[in-house]
This record gives sequence, structure tokens and C-alpha cells, in this order.
Amino acid sequence: MRDSFGRGGKLFVVSGPSGAGKGTICKRVKEDLHMDLSISMTTREPRPGEVHGKDYFFVSEEEFLRNIEEGNLLEHAQVYDHRYGTPRDAVMKRLDMKHNVLLEIDIQGGLQVKRSMPESVLIFILPPSLKVLRERLTGRGTDAPDVVEKRLAKALNEIKLIGEYDYYVVNDELDRAVSLTESIIRAEESRVPSKIMPLIRKYEEEE
Ligand code: ADP
Ligand code: 5GP
Repeated sequence: MRDSFGRGGKLFVVSGPSGAGKGTICKRVKEDLHMDLSISMTTREPRPGEVHGKDYFFVSEEEFLRNIEEGNLLEHAQVYDHRYGTPRDAVMKRLDMKHNVLLEIDIQGGLQVKRSMPESVLIFILPPSLKVLRERLTGRGTDAPDVVEKRLAKALNEIKLIGEYDYYVVNDELDRAVSLTESIIRAEESRVPSKIMPLIRKYEEEE
């Protein structure tokens, strides 16, 4: 990281309704800004091409519950029919190394992160409209029509929670949405930190 003031890494959470474009945007942001993207744990089955330890840690229900009991998850939620959670240690280790970390997680999880780590930055990805959301979910081709309907039905309730988030990005044109998300991250890197002493000390030492 380019910060010479001893500031630690920041945690960025990207959420939004299914099909809003979180995955597409986060993939680009991760590459452009060389950010660490957290790998979640889930009880769902891998989709064709998905790799354990790269896309997700695919675990059994028992193993997931054990991880909750042992306090290994920073947040966890039931999303549709499966459980998802963020392994705590990997995130903390990266933050300690002063790396920024990106979490692409659902809104229930985002709100848990905000409660336990209030300095985290929450970004909400909005579709331009519910009509476009339907087209994207259908066009993605990963979900059966009844699953698409379930996701659409949930979308409006999720959007109603946007007031808990710090920023929103309307994913209309992809390049613009990626660039806006990256601008938010860049600006947050320059936010005056709550622990201001290292910043001041640097100038004092010059005297
Ligand atoms: P999410 O991760 O939020 O569920 P995805 O990133 O999988 O959403 O995006 C859903 C679908 O919409 C994908 O097929 C993706 O290629 C497409 N998509 C994402 N962003 C845009 C955009 N700005 N314009 C058109 N299609 C998009
Ligand atoms: P998918 O099964 O399509 O990969 O993901 C389904 C949903 O689960 C998405 O909304 C995604 O953001 C969310 N998700 C993925 N990982 C996590 C996680 O670790 N925690 C939470 N709360 N949600 C997650």
C-alpha cells in the first residue's frame, strides 16, 4: 500500500441484490487495485468450474456450524438455501499487513460487519431498474426461472436496507460502475484516520 503514515488496511464490503453485478465489479476492482478478495465458506455445492479454496471453501453443514461455534467467522448468513460466511483470520491477517480487503457478501452479512467493525466501508451495488435486474439474472443463465423469481422478489426488500450502507453505485454501464467503485476506495484510502498520531509524528520528526 502506498500509505507512509502507518495506517492499517481497510475493509470494504460490496453487497447488492443477486444479479446487480457485484461479482463482475469486484473481479475488475480486485485486478485493477490489486486488492485481496476474501474467500468465503459455503455449504452450497460447487458449480462447474468452481475450485475449492479459490472461489469458495466448500464445506459440509457440520463443518460450517463448527466454525460458527469456534468463532472463526467474521459474519455469516443464510442466503437462499445455503450458508455463507467470511473466515475471520484470513481477513484480520491481511488487514494487519496493511492490505485493503474486499468482501463480496450479502446484505445481512454486510450489516454484521458494520456492527463489529464500524470503520469498514460498505458499498451497495444497485441495478438501474428491477426490469434490467430480471434481464441480467435471466441472461446470466445460472439460475432456473423459479430461482430468478425468488431472487427478484427479495431484491426490493434488500434495496430498502440501502440506508445502512455508506455508498451506492448504480451498475448501468460496467466501466463507469467499476471506475466509481474504485474512486470510492481511493477516496477512503485518503480519509483522515481516527488514530491520527502516526500522521502528525511524521511531520514532528522533521523539525
Ligand atoms: P451478482 O454477483 O451481483 O449476482 P453478476 O456479477 O453475476 O451479479 O452479474 C449478473 C449478470 O449481469 C452477469 O451475467 C453479468 O455478466 C451481467 N452484468 C453485470 N454488470 C453488467 C452491466 N453493467 N451491464 C450489462 N450486464 C452486466
Ligand atoms: P453464490 O451462491 O451465487 O455464489 O452467492 C450467493 C450470495 O451469497 C451472493 O449474494 C453473495 O454475495 C453471497 N455471499 C457470498 N459469500 C458470502 C459470505 O461470506 N457471507 C455472506 N453473508 N454472503 C455471502
